[in-house]
Amino acid sequence: RLNNEVIELKGNIRVFCRCRPLNEKEIANGSASVVNFESTAEEELQVICSDSSKKQFKFDYVFKPEDSQDAVFAQTKPIVGSVLDGFNVCIFAYGQTGTGKTFTMEGTPDNRGVNYRTLEELFRISEERQGTIKYELLVSMLEVYNEKIRDLLAGNSSETTKKLEVKQAADGSQEVPGLVETRVYGADGVWEILKSGNRVRSVGSTSANELSSRSHCLVRVTVMGENLINGQRTKSHLWLVDLAGSERVGKTEAEGERLKESQFINKSLSALGDVIAALATKSGHIPYRNSKLTHILQSSLGGDCKTLMFVQISPSSVDLTETLCSLNFATRVR
Ligand code: ADP
Ligand code: MG
Repeated sequence: RLNNEVIELKGNIRVFCRCRPLNEKEIANGSASVVNFESTAEEELQVICSDSSKKQFKFDYVFKPEDSQDAVFAQTKPIVGSVLDGFNVCIFAYGQTGTGKTFTMEGTPDNRGVNYRTLEELFRISEERQGTIKYELLVSMLEVYNEKIRDLLAGNSSETTKKLEVKQAADGSQEVPGLVETRVYGADGVWEILKSGNRVRSVGSTSANELSSRSHCLVRVTVMGENLINGQRTKSHLWLVDLAGSERVGKTEAEGERLKESQFINKSLSALGDVIAALATKSGHIPYRNSKLTHILQSSLGGDCKTLMFVQISPSSVDLTETLCSLNFATRVR
């Protein structure tokens, strides 16, 4: 390891829950909140089911609707910093469309999320250590849609549509050969790069939001470290993943392209759940190969890698069924 003061974590897998506020439309409709935080501990929440029974869920941390991006990042910070010590790190946002996955990861220009704050933190620490360790940061951005990988930083060239595959590198780790890597020198440069990637993402779809809810968006930060005192070098990855919406599409609503999409989403999200659950229970076989998503992330999930999953939920009674599905998914991976 590059740095001896490795930040202590309780375990390698953490699950945070974040509940968004009721939105204006829901308030106008008189929608009730079915998620309860009162009288529960900091890491617990309670869901009032339709039969008015209550179900309790426990997490490593629970963020209430009024909790700020600052509050979320305060809990996330110790995990992201470990990438500078040579650990691979994956951060996911999981949940139904409209629950705040993109808000948590990307945020808005005035209220930036985990992605930007993470890079800011990495640059801050690397500056602090510049006397002893030299760091180089590179950013890649890709999308997985219908089990196909698309490079979001390849610009308008044919590179964007070039077929990307997961391959095993000489050292046994999983790589995506040909994926564009852009050297970054500061957090603001990263914000611009992510914006340009997002523009590429929405090309070809009628509505950016529609497509983004049906594909996984992965930002990869590669950290190259060199210890200036003993010459030791490390390379590690931090993945920031905004997952496709987890909502189940009814068989009657979906046909053709939409049905195919939802089958691919279900398959990859359950593959991710299977992998994390297998890691959490220290099971021997980890089924990485069951989806593109888990295959790409293979070298950054498991072993001494750090994993953080944000389970995003809606407080609205209308979303109760999906909320319970997401909370049950979370229980499985914890
Ligand atoms: P998703 O990516 O899961 O589909 P979004 O991030 O697009 O959901 O969130 C849906 C809407 O709710 C957006 O307008 C977003 O700004 C808002 N929103 C989500 N979470 C919060 C929050 N914690 N506080 C305030 N607004 C939020
Ligand atoms: Mg989104």
